[in-house]
Amino acid sequence: VMICGGTGCTSSNSDKIAERFSEELKAKNLDNEVQIVRTGCFGLCEMGPVIVVYPEGVFYSRVKVEDVPEIVEEHLLKGRIVKRLVYGESIAEGEIKPLEDTKFYKTQKRIALRNCGVIDPENIEEYIAFDGYKALAKVLKEMTPQEVIDIVKASGLRGRGGGGFPTGLKWQFTHDAPGDEKYVVCNADEGDPGAFMDRSVLEGDPHSVLEAMTIAGYAVGAHQGYIYVRAEYPIAVKRLNVAIKQAREYGLLGKDIFGSGFDFDIEIRLGAGAFVCGEETALLNSIMGRRGEPRPRPPFPANSGVWNKPTLINNVETYANICPIILNGAEWFASIGTEKSKGTKVFALGGKINNTGLIEVPMGTTLREIIYDIGGGIPNGKKFKAAQTGGPSGGCIPAECLDTPIDYDSLISIGSMMGSGGLIVMDEDTCMVDIAKFFLEFTVDESCGKCPPCRIGTRRMLELLDKITSGRGEEGDIEKLETLAKSIKASALCGLGQTAPNPVLSTIRYFRHEYEAHIRDKK
Ligand code: SF4
Repeated sequence: VMICGGTGCTSSNSDKIAERFSEELKAKNLDNEVQIVRTGCFGLCEMGPVIVVYPEGVFYSRVKVEDVPEIVEEHLLKGRIVKRLVYGESIAEGEIKPLEDTKFYKTQKRIALRNCGVIDPENIEEYIAFDGYKALAKVLKEMTPQEVIDIVKASGLRGRGGGGFPTGLKWQFTHDAPGDEKYVVCNADEGDPGAFMDRSVLEGDPHSVLEAMTIAGYAVGAHQGYIYVRAEYPIAVKRLNVAIKQAREYGLLGKDIFGSGFDFDIEIRLGAGAFVCGEETALLNSIMGRRGEPRPRPPFPANSGVWNKPTLINNVETYANICPIILNGAEWFASIGTEKSKGTKVFALGGKINNTGLIEVPMGTTLREIIYDIGGGIPNGKKFKAAQTGGPSGGCIPAECLDTPIDYDSLISIGSMMGSGGLIVMDEDTCMVDIAKFFLEFTVDESCGKCPPCRIGTRRMLELLDKITSGRGEEGDIEKLETLAKSIKASALCGLGQTAPNPVLSTIRYFRHEYEAHIRDKK
């Protein structure tokens, strides 16, 4: 019995469900026959808490603690499926369909999320059984560091944290940087409102990140890694700690890994929740115990990062793609996705959409497929109005762009950006000016205050938005917003400030009439 132990299902009582299962199994003398496994996220968070019973693969959704005795009695003892609890999409005329055949999963392709909902993340043996640490063995036994970098380069993998910089190139720069002491860092400081991709990978498959970081360490010549993860992710932090301990016990972290003579270890650094610490130079400062403020680049982290030494920084999802690339080859990975955006992308679906949750799709999938085929459309028969990608740094995509393929370059061409993967859907009742204000409030709160364009400029923009939404708007205010936005983008020090105006600019671009209506109607 696989019970989702991700944050979503845990917050709707999956811990208690697991406890109740243990009690019931004991009471029915089934505790030696049936195993309860706490997994990571299955993705269909809307239907949580979810459990899957094998060998039939029955997907029970929205399970309550009081449903457990019935599942044990009927399904586990008598072999009769409890139909009223089965996820509707996975049952037809009483027959159970494999989950992969349901609409939600059918068009997905799980590479980064391959083990989430499949293994017990706190059991290294399960990870190993699913080819875990095989890529590391291959790298250490058969490949030179340059060969590892070459395969990452050839795969076309680009950074999944939002920037989309070619990963192999970043590895090459760190490898080529002079110096014997180098570091590898994992950016797990996911801070966009509504985003939980990295959290889910860490909760569901922490070893995949440890293994990839170790491979990266070998490739660039580092012996120490740091995972910078926000303290608001207690389940992820706990599972990472368990995974690091197990990997050390199995000789997969530490000295002389696989007898190769290569040493590598990983430590966790907890972030205190400042959004700006997701910016790589602020993150490096924070790791070193300094104030989490960005600094100008160059020098880039590849030359001067942690303790001013060459440092490789990638985000969680980027690392989660590394082992499959090593095992299946660069060509396999490059065959998925579009010409310039290879592989898949994980998105956290939220807002006005039926299937809120976590999905992974090939790059190039259209927004329409994501929203209607996987996401199940808009609740209550309402019309789709827009989707916000990239959180407070991104922009909104209106209905006329629903058929745009989702990849790095197409999103930029329509005034949005991939960002880390938060995707918030708005319906016809949403006021787009309010949405822009919500995201700007967030960035104003999270600005570190170091440079005036961001510290003062975003505040002035917010005042203008307040004025407009409270019925005090005047002619010329929209133009003032645009002028301010452009100068902030051009002059702010770091990515937070440079992208903060995006939600305002993209809503003005596609929904200018809503701004004008606020000003004209004075409401
Ligand atoms: Fe700080 Fe904003 Fe300037 Fe970045 S742009 S350094 S967050 S004030």
